[in-house]
Amino acid sequence: EADVLDVDFYSFQQQLTSEEQRSVAAIREFLDREVRPYADDLWEKAQSPRHLIPGFAELGLFGASWPETRQFENSAVYRAWVALEISRADPSTATFIGVHSGLAMNAIGVGGSAEQREEWMRPMARGEVIGAFGLTEPGHGSDTAKGLETTATRRTVDDGAGGSRDEWVLNGSKRWIGNAVFADIVVIWARDTADDQVKGFIVRQPAVGFTATKIERKQSLRGVENADIVLEDVVVPESDRLANINSFRDVAIILRLTRAEVAWQAIGVAVGAYEAALAYAKERQQFGKPIASFQLVQEKLANSLSNITASIALCMRVSEMQDLGIQKDHHSAMAKAFATARMREVVGWCREIMGGNGIQLDHGVARYFADAEAVYTFEGTYDMNTLIVGRSITGIAAFV
Ligand code: FAD
Repeated sequence: EADVLDVDFYSFQQQLTSEEQRSVAAIREFLDREVRPYADDLWEKAQSPRHLIPGFAELGLFGASWPETRQFENSAVYRAWVALEISRADPSTATFIGVHSGLAMNAIGVGGSAEQREEWMRPMARGEVIGAFGLTEPGHGSDTAKGLETTATRRTVDDGAGGSRDEWVLNGSKRWIGNAVFADIVVIWARDTADDQVKGFIVRQPAVGFTATKIERKQSLRGVENADIVLEDVVVPESDRLANINSFRDVAIILRLTRAEVAWQAIGVAVGAYEAALAYAKERQQFGKPIASFQLVQEKLANSLSNITASIALCMRVSEMQDLGIQKDHHSAMAKAFATARMREVVGWCREIMGGNGIQLDHGVARYFADAEAVYTFEGTYDMNTLIVGRSITGIAAFV
């Protein structure tokens, strides 16, 4: 039997098949060798681990949920544990992969026609084409469903061969878009000026009128390169409009999938911090004893593992529901809100256990502590996900 994660206190990983367990162990081994030792440096330099794209592709980390791109048939629970493992090694790497494989590939997988899937999914799984997902705008984060201002206007033009063709003109701006500074394709969500509905567009790079500027001086997830995007009369052919996206409801299908995965990433952040704090507590001596021998330190460790275990239990069920086809928006929202709130407590306790050393990158917890803040906020803030649950309980949307 493959080596299971020792923070898997209730042996949840027993539910994985032996093939899935072996794959998780191989991914962990790669991450421990290639990602973990360099993560603090990349974080400090604010660089994405782009050089590892071929390795990630070889491990099957891109597009593992889609029949045409997965390396073997697997469950949502398996993919969840993979998300945890990547985030445990480095939350920035998990986000970088999450944007490409989760957001961008799911946008094409869910919203693309057969031809669009055929064109993009395999090259994206091989890491030859890297994707980004442009939803958030400078003026609209939590209220993108209603507030999205970027426009898409359809027009018919002469094709130069005696006929005509349809194309779209995009105008607007986007903020916080991960991977956009180097992506080969950026999925842009824009409001159709004819029917006022949100549509999705594959914008191939480079595109005339499209600029992506790296956001500097971030203090969380520094290893993810986020961009401010400006779109000025960017022309996209009708063949690059995501064929099966008709409104924001369809975007919500994608977010339902990725939010559940971000909940698992949050558990990975908590695990990364917990492991560093536990090792430190056993080593660090005060009052002539390891600090792990003090009751107050043990309480923080026990509560951290309790938070991790409770989050895993909740998120396991959400992943199972995904496989059963019964996962709804409010299920993902509860998992994301709960796991990120528990994560935030854990990284705080673990930082505290490490005293002053807890605020310095070199001691293994500061990166998780800082990264937790962005994970708490993106893919729907804690508040918005909680209000989605509130809506399902009361039937009243508190956020419109
Ligand atoms: P706001 O929406 O302005 O919210 C500010 C505060 O007000 C929050 O606390 C929020 O909970 C609260 N609030 C807002 N409305 C309500 C309400 N009705 N009731 C109660 N409280 C409310 N976006 C992309 O499209 N693509 C990406 O790749 C991407 N990557 C990201 C990576 C990072 C590192 C970060 C930080 C963000 C990323 N985002 C991305 C954007 C992210 O999804 C947004 O930051 C998030 O949705 C919140 O939007 P906002 O920052 O505009 O905050």
